[in-house]
Formats: sequence, C-alpha cells, structure tokens
Amino acid sequence: MDVPRPIAVDETGVSPEPGRVTPMMEQYIEIKAANPDCLLFYRMGDFYELFFDDAEVASRALGIMLTKRGKHLGRDIPMCGVPIERADDYLHRLIALGHRVAVCEQLEDPAEARKRGAKSVVRRDVVRLVTPGTLTEDSLLDARSNNYLLALARARASSDEDRFALAWIDISTGEFYVGECDRGTLAAEIARIEPGEILVSDAFYSDPEFAPYLRSLPAVTPLARDVFDGATAERRLASFFTVATTASFGAFSRVELTAAAAAVTYVERTQVGKRPPLSPPLREAAGTTLAIDQATRSNLELIRTLGGERRGSLLAATDRTVTAAGSRLLAQRLAAPLTDPVEIGHRLDAVASFVDDAATRTDLRDRLKAAPDLARALSRIVVGRGGPRDIAAIRDGILAATQIAERLAVLADVPRDIAEAMAALRRPDGALATELARALADELPAFRRDGGFVRAGYENTLDEARALRDESRRVIAALQVRYAETTGIRTLKIRHNNVLGYFVDVTAQHGEKLISTPLNATFIHRQTLAGQVRFTTIELGELEAKIANAAERALALELEIFDRLAAAVTAASAAIKAAADALAIIDVVTALAHLAVERDYARPEVDRSLAFAVTGGRHPVVEQALANDGGPFVANDCDLSPPASPPPPAANAGRIWLLTGPNMAGKSTFLRQNALIAVLAQMGSFVPARIAHIGVVDRLFSRVGAADDLARGRSTFMVEMVETAAILNQAGERALVILDEIGRGTATFDGLSIAWATIEHLHESNRCRALFATHFHEMTALAAKLPRLHNATMRVKEWQSEVIFLHEVVPGAADRSYGIQVAKLAGLPSSVIERAKLVLAQLEAEDRISPARKLIDDLPLFAATRTAAPAPHADAGLASLVEALAALNPDEMSPRDALEALYALKGQLAKLK
Ligand code: ADP
Ligand code: MG
Repeated sequence: MDVPRPIAVDETGVSPEPGRVTPMMEQYIEIKAANPDCLLFYRMGDFYELFFDDAEVASRALGIMLTKRGKHLGRDIPMCGVPIERADDYLHRLIALGHRVAVCEQLEDPAEARKRGAKSVVRRDVVRLVTPGTLTEDSLLDARSNNYLLALARARASSDEDRFALAWIDISTGEFYVGECDRGTLAAEIARIEPGEILVSDAFYSDPEFAPYLRSLPAVTPLARDVFDGATAERRLASFFTVATTASFGAFSRVELTAAAAAVTYVERTQVGKRPPLSPPLREAAGTTLAIDQATRSNLELIRTLGGERRGSLLAATDRTVTAAGSRLLAQRLAAPLTDPVEIGHRLDAVASFVDDAATRTDLRDRLKAAPDLARALSRIVVGRGGPRDIAAIRDGILAATQIAERLAVLADVPRDIAEAMAALRRPDGALATELARALADELPAFRRDGGFVRAGYENTLDEARALRDESRRVIAALQVRYAETTGIRTLKIRHNNVLGYFVDVTAQHGEKLISTPLNATFIHRQTLAGQVRFTTIELGELEAKIANAAERALALELEIFDRLAAAVTAASAAIKAAADALAIIDVVTALAHLAVERDYARPEVDRSLAFAVTGGRHPVVEQALANDGGPFVANDCDLSPPASPPPPAANAGRIWLLTGPNMAGKSTFLRQNALIAVLAQMGSFVPARIAHIGVVDRLFSRVGAADDLARGRSTFMVEMVETAAILNQAGERALVILDEIGRGTATFDGLSIAWATIEHLHESNRCRALFATHFHEMTALAAKLPRLHNATMRVKEWQSEVIFLHEVVPGAADRSYGIQVAKLAGLPSSVIERAKLVLAQLEAEDRISPARKLIDDLPLFAATRTAAPAPHADAGLASLVEALAALNPDEMSPRDALEALYALKGQLAKLK
C-alpha cells in the first residue's frame, strides 16, 4: 500500500516538539488501549491505518508496505494502511490468520472537526470488532456454510461428572441454539457444530485438564469471568431480547443460561451495541441428535473429505439444493441426524410428497432459484451494514416466499413440515415488499454511499435535487460548446477529476492562446501537463458549486430513504426470518426428493427396534464417482438385526459382521456405505438402497486402522488405539460401530490379538451392531463361539491366476487373502511374485490357521476373563467396598477407629472372594 495519500496536517501525528504527543496520537492511543487484543483499523479518509506493533504485524501478514508517519516520543511511528474499498479482502485474510480486528471509524465529517478549531481531531470510535465467529459480510463468509460462534460453559458438579453447556449463534443468519452435554460427548458436540470461534472463561481455558484440548481447537477466545457469570446470565439474556424473563423461551438449566448469556454478551461487545436479529435460543435436548465424534466425522467424510475438500464428501454427493440457505440447512441436517423416529418420519413424509409429485417439485425448485439469501441480507441490514442490494434481496425474498406459499397452497393433504413452512412463508407483510419494489431502482450500486439506488418518481424532493444536479450537468455540456466556439478551439473539453474538480482542458498547442489576451480575461490557468493545459473560469466554478450542492443533497435524501426502508425491514425481521427458514426447508426437502428420484433412493423405515437390514445398499459417493467413469456399482445387503430367535443370553442385541477379503475387494466401501445409509436415513433422507429398515442409532463410530492413515501422515498406532478405546468405553446397544482393519498398525500377532479381543468386547459388553473388516482371516474362527457374530466375505474370482474383484458381499470367510495376486496387479516384478508364492506355499504347509483354531478351543471367552479388568462392570460387592472406603475420613478418625475400619474392610473383601 504505497499509494501516497493526503492527510490533513493536524492528523499526521507529527509532533512539532519532540516528547509531545499530538492530539490525534492521543486519541489513537486511547482507543487502542481499550482494544488491546485487536489490530486497530483506524480510519483516516479513504484508508484504514495501522500504527506501531499493529502496523508491523499487519504488514507482515498482508505483505503490504510498512512506512512511517511522524514521531511519537521521539521515535518513528511505523504505519501501514489499507484502502477502504479493499478492506473486506484484507480483513478476511487477517481473520483467517487468527487475528481479531477492531474497526475504528470517523464519526463526523472532518469539516465539522475543523469548525472546532485548527488543532481539533475528528471524532472516532470503534464501531465493531471483527472476529472469526462474528462475521456478516458475504465476502467474508462461505454462502453454503454456517459460521457459528460457540460459548462453552462448565458447571462444576459437586459429585463426580462435570456438565457442559453449549450455546451457538450464527449472527449472519440469526440462528441460536443451546444444549447440555457431558464430558464424554463434549468433543463430538463441538465437532458437529464446527464453530468458527469458541468462547470460554479464562479459568476454564487454563484448567490443566482441558487446556491441551482447548488449545488444539482453532480460534478459542478466553474471556474474563464476568461474561460467564451465572448470577447475571438470566438478566443479560433477557435484556438482549428485551423481554422481562427468558422463561418464555423454554426452561434452561443454569449452565445453559450461562453459556447463552456469554454468547449474546460477546455479540453485543463485538457489534458495539448493535443487535443482530437473533432468534430466541432454541434448546436442543440431550440425545436428540445422533452422536458422531470427530474421528468418525472425518472418517466418513460427511461434510468434507479427509483432504479437507467439500468435493467427494457425502454433503457434496447429496446436495441438490438451489439456494445458499438450503445448502446450509442440508449441511446442518447431515451433521446432526435425529434420533426420534417420529421426527424423522415427519421429514421423510415431506420428502416423499415431492418424490411422487415431479411437477410441483420442478416448479418449486425453479422458483427457489430466484430467492436470494434472505437471512444474511436481513442480518446485515439490522446491524447497519446493509447495502441497497440487501434491501433488494428482502424485496425478492418476500416475493419468492409469497409465490411459493401460493404454489404449495394448491396441494391437498400436505405433510406437517410443509404445512408449517407454508404458514411461515406467508408471514412477511406483502405491503413491505411492494414498498421496497416501489423505492428501489432497477440497477443497484454496491454501497449506500454510491447513491442512485432510489427509483425516480419515488420521492419528490429527491427528484428535484437530482433534476437540479443533472440540469447543471447539461449546462456544463452547453458551456463546453460555447467555449469551443468563442475560442475557436474545436477540441476544447470540460472535464472533471477529484483534485481540480471541473476544468477546461486543451492540448498544449492551444494553451498559449488561452493564456494570452483577450482570452486570459475569462480563462484562469490551473495546471500545465506534458500534453495538456488546464483552466478554470468563474462561471465554471459557480456551476461546480451548484452541482456539488445538488448532488450532496440528493445523496443525503437517498440515505434518509435507505434508513427508513432499513427500519421497516428491521421491524419485520421476525417474520422475514421465519420465511427465510421456511424457504430453506422447502429447498432441502425438494432437493432430497430430487436426489431420490435422480439416484433411485428408497424411503427407509426407521423405528425404535434394533434392526439394521439393508437390501441392495450402495455407497452414495462411490456410486456417483463410478457412474461418472461408466462403471456399475455392485449393490450389497447387510443385516445386523438381532437374530430372530436369539439363544439366551444374547437376547435382543444386534449382530456383528466380520468381513474378510483381499485388499481392493470393497470392504471399506461396504462398511462406510452402511454407516452413511444410517446417517442419511436419520437426517430424513431417502437412502441408496432397495429396502432399508433401521432401528434408530444413537451413536455412530467409525475407525480405520492406522496403516490407511499413515499415508496421509496423520495417524499412528497410538491414535488408532485411543480411538478404539473410546468406542469400547462408550458404545451402547443402540450404537453402530464400523471398524476397518483395526490392529493393522502393529505387528501381526499383536494386531490379531487386539482385533480378537475387540470383537469379543463388542459382542459381550457393548452388544452393539457392528461391522468389522479385517485382513486377519484367522478371526473368522470366532464365529463358532460368538452366537451373534456373522462371517461375510468379498467374493473374488480367480481367472488364469489373476484375481477379479466382484465387489459382492457373501456369507462365509475368505479362504485366502490373495495378497500375492494383488501385488501382481500392482506390478511387482514377476521374480518377486514367484518367490513369494513359494514362501506362502511353505507357510501354508505348516498350517497358519491352527494357532487361531487352538485359541478358540483353549481360551475362555472374553466374558469369562474380563473380571481381570473389572472397571466399568464392577459387581455390587466390589462397589460397596469402594463406597465404604470412600466414606472414610482419616482426618476425623481416632487410631482405634481407623484400625477397626481396616478390619471391617478386610472382612468385606474376604466375603467377595
Ligand atoms: P478394500 O477396503 O477391500 O481394500 P475398497 O473398499 O477400498 O476395498 O474398494 C476398492 C475399490 O473398489 C474402490 O475404490 C471402488 O472403486 C471399488 N469398489 C468397492 N466397492 C464396490 C462396489 N460395491 N461396486 C463397484 N466397485 C466397488
Ligand atoms: Mg480398505
């Protein structure tokens, strides 16, 4: 930013006497002191300037030139600046790098300041803090993703378990949610919300137990305790919404109120008093959404791929929405599938109604395409950052909502979700849209300050001011003709620039003529350039003043009209928001219907059973990728439902499938497709299968053995084990667990033993539905011992000693691993292949299977051995012993009491044995 820029003398910060601080610097330092954790964008004319350390940080971060401007206490003041037109771009980069920015504006015209005296400083103050979680500009946001600000509060429970409350707000759309969770689900909740910024109290941030985790998250902002003060929380929340009490929003726990209040307090602070149109906090009861931890989310590539891209994710493969708001809602639903079959049923009903009605679906989608991003335009208008195009968006959005409501009204028997959306679409007042349409011109500038957005004929006074301005412009054109005639210079022009204003412009060869008598009586020399000479005249000067006045007045009138329209929109914000939400719902539902028809998806049956029966299932992403390459996807069945007549004690628990087969046979694809089918079904979508019956899943786990991830350099065997531990400790009978080659990240016997014990634990303790892929085909022997374990394998065909993958899942165990055939396919030298075959033959002769067979016969089942590690399933006797021990208070005991207690404990222990 090395553009030279004029700065009024009293605003340079130049100190006439060393050691004295100029008034401007005094103002700067005061404002900076109030915002120490932010880079201060200090407005000076058409630039935001940064000084001192801020300038150094920003110039490095943005690659812009560091200059100096004057001295402060005898030292040079480093400075850099960004022009206001490009400020959004620079803000975006600074925020992305993790900085926070305080935007300090001039609050009065510099001319006003000068009236107070030559030395007075323009009034300035911070109008907004820009942080990653509080953005509203389209240029700073991804249209298709929410950007949440999350406040995290902790309730220190006196007993054992801490409770946590989360409150998350998207200020660009007004969404506001609150919920509670426990320690075990905290990370999964945060992963689901994917906040742009997280607020925690200072104390929590430095708690040694949580510090490492919190520091691993991006953009965590620790805040002073008052923001998280539970005692004032209710009051702060009520005052934000200007209600007497928050009881009307629903019943919140104290820790939920604390989190919610922290979030709105931060919003108020960063918006410096402006209140974005937030919906009242919507309470999400614990357990209403499918818990999916971070590892599972990235593994299943729900919202983005492991490489971080949207392309290739489940979201990208299933997103047929036509509006940005619809795309955001779809992402939300995918990230948080439901657990209540009744609610899921309502969503599916809505989708089904449009699957059957192609005409309505197509028509609605065409209309939706014309609907702008109402929610974000509304937020900007309410916080005072809206432009003419935002007002136009409201106009068009209300219009689209009304039309779509009319289109829906002709349908008979609409499902609940559609009926609700229809009512919401009708809420905005049609008269408002008409008024906005009357007021706005056809072509709209980007900013209010550009003017020209009010339609001619809308307001008399404005029309008059514009006529005057335009009339004067015509007079200038006439003047040019007259001057050309009187001087005889046909090429004479009247031009305008920001430095000279209007001026008479002639080429150098004619310059002499105007400088000489008699013409020099009229033409006053202003400037001589290489090829041009410039003049002014008294007449031109007068005209210029008139034009400037008229233009200024016209703009002032337009800005007044803008404020009036913005106020009308703000007053209607609740209704507009409701309509915006409804448009998003209609978009999502019709898009899912469109997808179902396009890709031949079926309506899943979701209930409270423990069934998991998929017939003809496909992988939604791989299927589409293959379709583009012309290959067919082989559909496969999967049945993890509890056995029809289960042998006790296995009664009513789902099955585990142990899937073996060579590399590249399609194991991982099969595992994931079943998890994705569960996600799609519970988010309320049709699924890529012929028939699907799913008993609601409450937690979904998916893990891949370390070797797969090593290639991506992100995982180690330790991570693999930590993640597996989380499953074994957390999965209940409603969970669905996908384990892909667990135990691969270590030596064969280690790995096999771990995989073995893991399966036993899943079967005996977790009793969940699970799919387990492994290349240890020794493990298939386990099916003989575990009644709900079912062996399945990927069919392959051998043809002329080549292996052909049929991608077909069939009952049974892989008889061999085909590793050598795969190696051949991959192009290993034939000498190596031949040698490997010899070695294998030798090993097989020694019967590698036998150790596993022996294990099955010799080793007691997991259930019989697990008392060795009794932690989560301690029996009652042990528990009461622990309780007795915990109840002792050595500080208050006499030596004799202590001895007696010791004997009593020993006695209890003896009874246990
Ligand atoms: P594995 O985990 O057994 O090594 P993958 O699941 O990674 O195998 O599948 C390997 C490749 O096979 C996939 O990239 C995909 O292109 C193809 N594939 C997998 N399943 C199918 C299927 N059901 N139909 C067609 N192609 C498949
Ligand atoms: Mg695999």
